Amino acid sequence: MRLSRHVAVPLLLAAAGLCAPAQAAPVHAPSDPNQAFAAEFGDRFFEAYWPLRPDLAISVGYYNVADRLLPFDARERAVEAVFLKRELAALKRYAPESLNDANRTDQALLRNELESELWHQQELRDWQWDPSGYNVANSFALLLNTDYAPLEQRLRTVSRRLARVPAYYAAAWANLSHPTREHTQLAIQQHQGTLDLFGADLENQVVSSALSMDERLLLLKRIDAARAAIKGYIEHLAALDARLAKNGKPRSFRLGRALYEKKFGYDIQSAGSAEDLYQRALTEKGRLLERMDGLATQLWPKYMGDAAPPQDRFDRIGQLIARMSDHHSAAADFVPTVEKLIPQLEDWVSSHDLIDLDKDKPLQVRVTPAYERGVSVASIDAPGPYNAQASTYFNVTPLDDMGAERAESFLHEYNDWMLPILIIHEAIPGHYVQLIYANRSPSRIKSIFGNGAMIEGWAVYSERMMLESGYGGGTPEMWLMWCKWNLRSVTNTILDYSVHVLGMSRDDAIKLLAHEAFQSQEEASGKWRRVQLSSVQLASYFSGYSQIYDFREQLKQEQGEAFKLKAFHEQLLSYGSAPVKLIRELMQNKKGSEDAR
Ligand code: ZN
Repeated sequence: MRLSRHVAVPLLLAAAGLCAPAQAAPVHAPSDPNQAFAAEFGDRFFEAYWPLRPDLAISVGYYNVADRLLPFDARERAVEAVFLKRELAALKRYAPESLNDANRTDQALLRNELESELWHQQELRDWQWDPSGYNVANSFALLLNTDYAPLEQRLRTVSRRLARVPAYYAAAWANLSHPTREHTQLAIQQHQGTLDLFGADLENQVVSSALSMDERLLLLKRIDAARAAIKGYIEHLAALDARLAKNGKPRSFRLGRALYEKKFGYDIQSAGSAEDLYQRALTEKGRLLERMDGLATQLWPKYMGDAAPPQDRFDRIGQLIARMSDHHSAAADFVPTVEKLIPQLEDWVSSHDLIDLDKDKPLQVRVTPAYERGVSVASIDAPGPYNAQASTYFNVTPLDDMGAERAESFLHEYNDWMLPILIIHEAIPGHYVQLIYANRSPSRIKSIFGNGAMIEGWAVYSERMMLESGYGGGTPEMWLMWCKWNLRSVTNTILDYSVHVLGMSRDDAIKLLAHEAFQSQEEASGKWRRVQLSSVQLASYFSGYSQIYDFREQLKQEQGEAFKLKAFHEQLLSYGSAPVKLIRELMQNKKGSEDAR
């Protein structure tokens, strides 16, 4: 389950702007480098950046560039490269040591982002091989469904944007020189959904709107032309896929070692390499399985009675977990159970001195509004950086419209022990609490380019930390379920590296997930699909978690009795969603300078 606030970030391939972005305003360098940095990389930077990234702008609630949609052709790529290089040069003029912590972390994140975007364009070149990187649906859906302006104004924006759809897909098709079959098929499938967006509902909305007759006719004509362009794209891709199936040599979806390491460096921003993390995950997997086997042996008679435990340890653990998973709430009680858990977790966190919560802003739990359903069963709905005063909600979706069989399988997974762990991860003290702390040092750069490994790592770390504090009673059942859950993060890392670097087959991947990590067949095949279409993201959970955990253990060693868990948590989160590597450096510097006083 992922947070809505960090799934919305679209691909870097968003079509870029028509003309070169405004030149950087000459900055009358104030003598304080912090003031100068804030002036140069605050609104000035984003006003130059958004015209190149209108899709990202729309997704974070910045609509001034919403009518832009341009073919990602050679000219656009040149404009983009000039912009990225110029901003990188400007960033590098600030010596990191001259900046305060907030600006220094912003500088590091922005530099990484700009370098990564340039690398995507010039070396990864996914614009040549990923047909699913081109899709106009998301931004149009947001413009049509978000109430940021009166409907007529939004329809006019939609109309101007639509006029550019045919040129956009023509350039996309021209760029695709050697696509993978997996991304080609994904694009075909997703564009069927894109076609639905431009169907009868939209036409009715236009016809019954208050636009003038001329505006309505023009808009309807543009919808028609956009539909034709999308159909053409699907037909081109389907023919291409058929050719590749017959006699082509399609590009492999596997990134290979060199690209994977590079992408890992940009996306994860940790001190070690991808290979280091993979080795570490293998060790961790062994440790978890050993612990699970011990717990399973201990719990066997309680849940399995006289049945003899199987010889194979995976079977032993798997059968016990399956039996324990029958202990879960009824489908009708799902929402009230989650509603009860939230205040209970808040009380636990406060009474055990784990971290300060914002008492003035308790998390509001609500049933997921209809227009947001269908993505996940529980998620945080946090305001974006351009709408910061809005409330944060924890959305819980009733299981009613899931169908009895799917609801049962869901509840099996999120049984009596697992459900609290999920809520710890998503809300307290996981993602929601991290977000509160991040918002205390408001930074547009961090909220838009925040480090995913820090965000996911904190949530995964907080699960273990809660159990260590005694939450759940320290029972063997609780720890066994935690091990299964934690094994998922570890296995994600192993899977991603094995598939993209080591060439792991589908059969071996399914065996790893279903047999050795106790996942359902449905979950395992979904994960196989995800690993073919994405890379590195699956490694972020274990990477962030192990970095935070190692750092804590190191400080405990060094400080002995003086180590305070609550102070550690609060300081760690005070830097916002910066990479753990950098936070560690800043915390150690601070410690050093305090010691020297
Ligand atoms: Zn998460």
